[in-house]
Amino acid sequence: MAKIFCVANQKGGVGKTTTTVNLAAGLAQLGQRVLMVDLDPQGNATMGSGVDKRSLALSVYDVLLESASVAQAAVRSEKCGYDVLGANRELAGAEVELVGLERRDQRLKTALVAVATRYDFVLIDCPPSLSMLTLNGLCSANGVIVPMQCEYFALEGLTDLVNTIKQVHANLNKDLQIIGLLRVMFDPRITLQSQVSDQLKAHFGDKVFDSVIPRNVRLAEAPSYGLPGVVFDPLAKGSQAFVAFAQEMVARSSGAASPVSRETQA
Ligand code: ADP
Ligand code: MG
Repeated sequence: MAKIFCVANQKGGVGKTTTTVNLAAGLAQLGQRVLMVDLDPQGNATMGSGVDKRSLALSVYDVLLESASVAQAAVRSEKCGYDVLGANRELAGAEVELVGLERRDQRLKTALVAVATRYDFVLIDCPPSLSMLTLNGLCSANGVIVPMQCEYFALEGLTDLVNTIKQVHANLNKDLQIIGLLRVMFDPRITLQSQVSDQLKAHFGDKVFDSVIPRNVRLAEAPSYGLPGVVFDPLAKGSQAFVAFAQEMVARSSGAASPVSRETQA
């Protein structure tokens, strides 16, 4: 059964898309079967996985409106080694079109259940908002990965996200939890970043991933080649950090035994 993770943070430009595509590529390199779902109408994760958003026959938009299944709409990125359920500007309209429809926050979840045995990991790249699209992501997921820069205001923004996740957990999706905070674009030479990083660990303990993603220009260059950094330049520091993060995710996911498997072990 696929483990489903949302990459979310309502701030823009914090590294959600970079995290989603590089984690997807890292997991694929480790032999995991991965589906990447782009829930952002900007379609950056789609383009950054080598899939042209302008030429998508079907996209996550069709899946949300139940006019296509995930199996029909997902395409393979051969270069990246994972499947892509892409997005383009059409998705911006879904927000309005979903209003008034039944189970509008559960559409993605229902669609993903049908392909749960085909994948080990499903990664959902969320838009920079707490919108109906993000809510569909949160309702589908077992956990949330929160990329964040170690800057002063990062902690402030986190409160809103944590509250939203608590509400979704209480009312809509009992599975949902924050899997971890991922420190990204990290520069240890900047004292403030090290201080915020220490504060994060003091506050959130083992909810902070061990892996740290450094600021690395190769990660920023890769999207213009339609590739995640991990594929574009595997030897770059940032790429190696994402592969280490993929290993950490595999270890954490297998370590978190479900109640059923704990019973069988006992
Ligand atoms: P979001 O999806 O949250 O809006 P992105 O992943 O698109 O954020 O990242 C914002 C910008 O920062 C992009 O230009 C991206 O290439 C760049 N970026 C992301 N992570 C890194 C990193 N570790 N080092 C350098 N640049 C990065
Ligand atoms: Mg993005």
